[in-house]
Amino acid sequence: MRRGKRFLKLYSLMLTMLATLTILAVVLRPVDGWVPLLKQQYTLHFGPQVLNLHPLATPTPTEPVYEIKAQFHGDSGLISGQMNVTVPELRLDGLPLYLYVPMQVYGVKVNGTAVKAQVSEGQVLVPVKKSTAPQTVTLTFRTQLPKAPSRTGYWQGVATASYWYPIVGVERDGEWMKRPATLGFGDPYLMDLGNYRVELTTPGAFKWYSSGVQTGEQKLEDGRKMLTFQAQKVRNFAMVGGAGFAETKYRTEEGMLVTVASVAKADLGRAAALTRSAVKTYTQRIGTNPYPVLSVLELPAGTIYAHELPNLALFAQDLWEYDDPEHWIVHEIAHAWFYNAVGNYEVETPWLDEGLADYAALLDMERREGAGAYQARINDAWKRFANNYTYSPYPYGTSNRVKTGKSAVPYGTYQTSQAHYYYTYQRMVLMYHDLRKLLGDEAFFKFLKQYYLKNAGRTATRADLEKALADIEPKAVGRLKMWLDTPNDELIGNVAGRFQK
Ligand SMILES: [Zn+2]
Repeated sequence: MRRGKRFLKLYSLMLTMLATLTILAVVLRPVDGWVPLLKQQYTLHFGPQVLNLHPLATPTPTEPVYEIKAQFHGDSGLISGQMNVTVPELRLDGLPLYLYVPMQVYGVKVNGTAVKAQVSEGQVLVPVKKSTAPQTVTLTFRTQLPKAPSRTGYWQGVATASYWYPIVGVERDGEWMKRPATLGFGDPYLMDLGNYRVELTTPGAFKWYSSGVQTGEQKLEDGRKMLTFQAQKVRNFAMVGGAGFAETKYRTEEGMLVTVASVAKADLGRAAALTRSAVKTYTQRIGTNPYPVLSVLELPAGTIYAHELPNLALFAQDLWEYDDPEHWIVHEIAHAWFYNAVGNYEVETPWLDEGLADYAALLDMERREGAGAYQARINDAWKRFANNYTYSPYPYGTSNRVKTGKSAVPYGTYQTSQAHYYYTYQRMVLMYHDLRKLLGDEAFFKFLKQYYLKNAGRTATRADLEKALADIEPKAVGRLKMWLDTPNDELIGNVAGRFQK
């Protein structure tokens, strides 16, 4: 009897709780429902980790030398190649080569002796013992560029060859890192600087733009030609080729050869004007870019929006029809400073290069359109930020999908590009604006210059950003950390007073 009564009480309590939860679930329902949020939380705690990461560890870079002889077969979109890659030393057994795009690899040799390499979809594992002497891996590969408007692809007569050959893996804290997996957005890449000599045979009518300096051109008998390139200290060697590019070139006062090329001749003028402006702004505000070449390329409509490769800034022709083409073009150019000159492991610290490149894009806008335009952009970013709306190019009002995230997290923490843009770009832009207000312009730009100067030509980490700031104003480091590490709901409350007027 007593037991039955207690059970009834418990039963009614459970019913009340269930009813309350149901009402709460309806009342608090996010704009796009609970499913994305639940999925996000599930993946965060139980899903496969994209990487086992230690973002504060000191890089242990290998600087390999790549010699690649490649043949681009024209219409078929096939690239075949022979590659020698030499690592100066090998601190760990078994050298992994990452395959970021599908390709066939065969004929693997180590120091001239054939070996049996394990080839899986994501990487080639070369059986080689650790050594303090240089080790050379030789192999043959075939990469079929998909006939699609993808990052690596052959679309409307333009071949974009990025990550098209096996790339030496990255070592971290005494182990080889696995090749990062992609979620279909952002930059899931991990690589060290390398030095390249590339020989490319191609149909004679093709113009090629690459991460390197072109050092030679030779006509071949069958209407084809051979081009040679060299690139020093680049994270990978990319090439874009096509027969229909219109181009213009100029050399900066500092000596960099800048090429602007477009698939639509009518767009060349505005693309070139933006390029000149951005290169000037970044040189003045951040520092001289030490690389000898930069190419800014307009690709056929439909090709992935906009992205960066070493010494290359790419955007699709239809970007001009979006709300904010200027912003994204100068953003990609800014990656020649942050990502290329000052590198970072993109998959570990996506917020580091994206945040700086995007803030740099605002600096160019400020110079082109004035302080009012800059402030309007900050105001828009703040309104979106405070309402948990993601960043442009998403329309105003698009949910960020994750309300309690942070910025200093590796790629893959956020499973949607809405959350990725919100935490990696938008929150970082507001951070740099807030630091600028705190420090004043003079000290703020010294901080940017210090970070750039100290880290150009290497792979920077979060600690390097903190150090550059501490060298200018140690008291500001707390503000930086707050923006990087505070859960978002708490952060919005902390900073609102400085943004709301
Ligand atoms: Zn970017």
